[in-house]
Amino acid sequence: MRHVLLVRYGEVFLKGANRPHFLKVLTDNVKKAVKPIGGHVWISDSRIYVSDFNDLDACVDRVSKVFGVYSVSPAVELNKDFEEIAAACVEMMKPYSGTFKVQGKRSDKKFPMNSMEIAMEIGGRVLEANPNLKVDVHTPQHRLMVEIRDMAYICVEEIKAVGGMPMGTGGKAALLLSGGIDSPVAGYQLMKRGVKLCAIHFQSPPYTGELAKDKVLQLAKKLAYYSGGMRVYMVPFTKCQLEIHEKCPEELGTLITRRFMMRIAERLAKDFGALALITGESLGQVASQTMEALTCTDAVVDMPVFRPLIGLDKTEIMDIAVRIDTYDTSILPYEDCCTVFTPRHPVTKPKVETMPKVEEKLDVEALVSEAVERTEVVIVDAE
Ligand code: ATP
Ligand code: MG
Repeated sequence: MRHVLLVRYGEVFLKGANRPHFLKVLTDNVKKAVKPIGGHVWISDSRIYVSDFNDLDACVDRVSKVFGVYSVSPAVELNKDFEEIAAACVEMMKPYSGTFKVQGKRSDKKFPMNSMEIAMEIGGRVLEANPNLKVDVHTPQHRLMVEIRDMAYICVEEIKAVGGMPMGTGGKAALLLSGGIDSPVAGYQLMKRGVKLCAIHFQSPPYTGELAKDKVLQLAKKLAYYSGGMRVYMVPFTKCQLEIHEKCPEELGTLITRRFMMRIAERLAKDFGALALITGESLGQVASQTMEALTCTDAVVDMPVFRPLIGLDKTEIMDIAVRIDTYDTSILPYEDCCTVFTPRHPVTKPKVETMPKVEEKLDVEALVSEAVERTEVVIVDAE
């Protein structure tokens, strides 16, 4: 007998010819996740198992954050000997009270009892040993699962995991990562669909300081926990912002700034091999996030721009930020480059066809290439 973690994955992505590839990526990602705490990972009979970990709670935490994993259960692995199984079930149910049900599952048809018989017999023994339990087959508080596969597995707790698609199966994208609440959440939403991210951050020293930079790296680290590391591009943006401030109408400042961010981000994204950009915009949240403004922002790039938060309210975004543990870092009060030259009366319905004229006084290409060339790359690891 030994303790293992039983890992369930979704079935949605497992149809068709891609199944072996998805499963291989998922199993490798579970291996990477448990590596720091020691753990042997294998796949058998539509389940992934982890054994030989040195800390169960840490193992649960790590594996339940692997995208593609739907739930995990701390389980006991046993020989397919009924007496041994029944005794272990009695032991496992000792701390519980209330209602329960035994759910038998026999995949190995050579086992002498069928699923129903297993459930009945074990249910009886558990009841006899624990007077605090009652059977309820319809809405039990606890479900004792007894599965007869290549070995026997029993478990009672099922912990919900992140779900989604295995990291790396959705391609690559570049996240425009500010220090705010929204962009880390936007990145998370795409990571959940299996997309490998790099992050791009625009900084404007001396208007933005070291603390603001550290904050962004801290956020990148939180996201990197899910992906096993992340490349962060730190773009020097002061010169672009000063030129825009000096040469363009104040009320269009934010919008033109956003257009420069997109142009620079697209080039860096190509360097990373990404096929799309991701931002944390939500429709109508601020002047630069109206439909007209977003049209002006998108007009300067050819890559698709994913905005997974476009239809969410701020409170909904904040809830996700709390859940993925980026919120407390995001609300630390440091300047972001966007708050440096905020116009008093930003335009909310800009016309995309007037933009090139507005940018005429700027040497767009020179500013963009210089920012790209002077960009620093920081590799953030997951630990
Ligand atoms: P966030 O909470 O993500 O900062 P926001 O509501 O403050 O978003 P804006 O400041 O208009 O909105 O920025 C919109 C999006 O542009 C951000 O979600 C982010 O993707 C990107 N962005 C803004 N500032 C930066 C920056 N300094 N570096 C990288 N990306 C940025
Ligand atoms: Mg912001």
